[in-house]
Amino acid sequence: MSVVTPEELERPVFRYRLLPLFRDLIRCGCVNTGEPDSGQEDRAVAVLREFFASYGLETRILHGRPGRGNLLVKVPGSDATAPSLTYMNHVDVVPANAADWSCDPFAADLKDGQVWGRGAVDMLCWTACQAVGLAEALKARPQRNFPGNLSFLALADEEAAGRWGARFLVEQFWEDVKCDAMVTELGGFFADTDRGPAAFINRGEKGVAWVKLTARGRAGHGSMPYGADNALLKAAEAALRLGTYRAPLLRHPSWRSMAKTAARGFGERVALLSGWGEGWVMKRIFRRDPGMAKFLDTAGHTTFSPNVVAGGDKINVICDRSELLVDVRFLPGQDGNIPDEAGVEALVRQALGPQLSSQFHFELLDFHQPTLSSLEGPLDEAIRGVFSESHPDASLVDLMIGGVTDGRYWRDRGTTVYGFTLFDREMTMGEFTSRMHGVDERISLNSLALGLRFFTQLPGKFWKV
Ligand SMILES: [Zn+2]
Repeated sequence: MSVVTPEELERPVFRYRLLPLFRDLIRCGCVNTGEPDSGQEDRAVAVLREFFASYGLETRILHGRPGRGNLLVKVPGSDATAPSLTYMNHVDVVPANAADWSCDPFAADLKDGQVWGRGAVDMLCWTACQAVGLAEALKARPQRNFPGNLSFLALADEEAAGRWGARFLVEQFWEDVKCDAMVTELGGFFADTDRGPAAFINRGEKGVAWVKLTARGRAGHGSMPYGADNALLKAAEAALRLGTYRAPLLRHPSWRSMAKTAARGFGERVALLSGWGEGWVMKRIFRRDPGMAKFLDTAGHTTFSPNVVAGGDKINVICDRSELLVDVRFLPGQDGNIPDEAGVEALVRQALGPQLSSQFHFELLDFHQPTLSSLEGPLDEAIRGVFSESHPDASLVDLMIGGVTDGRYWRDRGTTVYGFTLFDREMTMGEFTSRMHGVDERISLNSLALGLRFFTQLPGKFWKV
């Protein structure tokens, strides 16, 4: 059964379980501004708790901060040696400016076969499909369990790096939330290739280093800049140098998988995969599909994006101190070694060059190493199984992203984490990325039905029962 039938959208579990839960979650509007008391995810947690109670499933609420609950459902397996599987999602969303939307971003309107609202793709569609899928999968089992532990985790605070959510749970409740395999967000969207449709499965995330570079100068009169030591010029030069620097291409397996998908025809494929014609092919890909070009470029290169500059305090005084904030997303080195904090400093200094580099003090504001899950194992097999039944003519493509999800906290500790769900074909990479954190975020009923199908069937495929 490859397409969603009208009957599938009429099934009681879809109409009376999934849709109301999904729309209630959007209406909670757990907006995370980054302020410690924003989000207030307890509202979404209460909705989920009531939903699971209706299936007779017990929930645990874990608070890192008042009002900001995380919800855990854990159903013990029958075989202590079987691997465990967790569905993980977050219930906070980013703000939405209602004036720019064509509907109320928190009303969860249903029109044109789509549900509209903030969080529709990032990531309340996962939350709802995972919750109903897990409950239905368990209900269909005679003993109401699977061989291994099956868990559901709805987290707070993902949109502000997980301080009260993922990071808190992994640090304080590891024994409760640890698992062998995990499915979370960011994947499942499609691209057209010259070999047919392909969907992306997210296996890893680049490292993140937020860097502050500080330069000193010497104050003087702005009317006589001749021979002055101006700190702002140093920051400007560093911004230009880092912003235009190209780190060497790293042709790791995920990049190769993405490159094969993005290239068209033999010539482009050879030029890109060998690396020698990368610049030429990337320009052509960018013209066809800018989103794809951005994903591919960041997957293959360590990048330096200078995004904040500050310095000086008076227009007629030579600037004597400047700061440049640089968002660095790094890959393992050519030798496969993952740079540590000193290694990232060396990368930045190398990009600046010795003379300019000597002018700057280096400080790390945030640091997280790259995480990558292996390409094999029961979860990979299970996902491929469900995927090929619903989209038999499509292939799966590895994705390594420059952004971060809560999945990194589990990958750090050895869990296999993939970002995936089943979407309808209309959810292309371009559509997904423009809706995520964007205006008029929405998802089709067909995609929701496929997501429900995915999370209902996955446990059976994972444990082969
Ligand atoms: Zn998200």
